[in-house]
Amino acid sequence: EDILVDVRGLKKYFPIHKGLLSRVVGQVKAVDDVSLAIRKGETFGLVGESGCGKSTFGRVLLRLQGATEGQVLYQGRDIQQLGKKDMRGLREEMQIIFQDPFGSLNPRFLVKDIIGEPLRVHRNMTAKQIDDRVVELMELVGLDASRRNRYPHEFSGGQRQRIGIARAIALNPKFIVADEAVSALDVSVQSQVINLLMQLQRELGLTFLFIAHGLNVVRHISDRVGVMYLGKLVEVGETETLFAAPLHPYTAALLSAIPKPSPGRVRERIVLQGDVPSPANPPTGCRFHTRCPFAAEKCSQVEPILTEVAPGRQVACHFPLKVESELL
Ligand code: SF4
Ligand code: MG
Repeated sequence: EDILVDVRGLKKYFPIHKGLLSRVVGQVKAVDDVSLAIRKGETFGLVGESGCGKSTFGRVLLRLQGATEGQVLYQGRDIQQLGKKDMRGLREEMQIIFQDPFGSLNPRFLVKDIIGEPLRVHRNMTAKQIDDRVVELMELVGLDASRRNRYPHEFSGGQRQRIGIARAIALNPKFIVADEAVSALDVSVQSQVINLLMQLQRELGLTFLFIAHGLNVVRHISDRVGVMYLGKLVEVGETETLFAAPLHPYTAALLSAIPKPSPGRVRERIVLQGDVPSPANPPTGCRFHTRCPFAAEKCSQVEPILTEVAPGRQVACHFPLKVESELL
């Protein structure tokens, strides 16, 4: 099938400095050897606890940060090798939507200037053309365009997120990283914004990397889901199969924390012990072994590699959970 973003062996390490001389005393392996192909037109949901590297991953995909190692191929081209001019074109095609719609919108700018800013920077348009486009964009995201001469603080949280979305789609991008784009919103507003994103995806042919810390948030919008733990992908699968039958104990634990809407199938609650270890000093072997209820001796010694166990289904675990074969 058609791959839009092909990530190969991506690593992003941050040095840890200490003392007056700012000596490098170690490194945080925020993203540690992640490979993933995002298909054209899909929504890939990326899930994990805070600090697992998912935001860093999203930022490196857009070259907002450089990679330490590995490649990001966008439509077959290595984005780290692009010169200024090509990068400018790429900036138009790849956009990001942030978590905090208020923090990411300049409070002293009128909404029309916030949404119109990328047009002013990237397009040779008259003020009238920009205004027309701003009206069109506001209508597209379900905002009252007659309010474009107002400030962000005059809008609700959900509306501010729509302003951020309008700005993100202003240049007709192809790929959007939504980094915790709905996490700060009330549940009912969350689903409205998710529905808007799904509608825009259909109408504009967008591809999404949709980052969230909870699995329940990504379920409705994602075609596929990847679960990250301490800088590594531990499981990837089609959304429905992954939810029906998680293979990695960490995925199962995240799932079991979601309250069941119906009494039907009872899922045993897996309670994780302890906190997420520091990514500066990840556990040996399987990074999850310090919290895994199924850990065996091998787990602290040998690192499990992300392996395809069924078509489209990958897991990094020495003892993946058993599931009925028809679910795979
Ligand atoms: Fe748990 Fe071992 Fe699997 Fe890691 S490899 S998730 S510790 S069973
Ligand atoms: Mg984050």
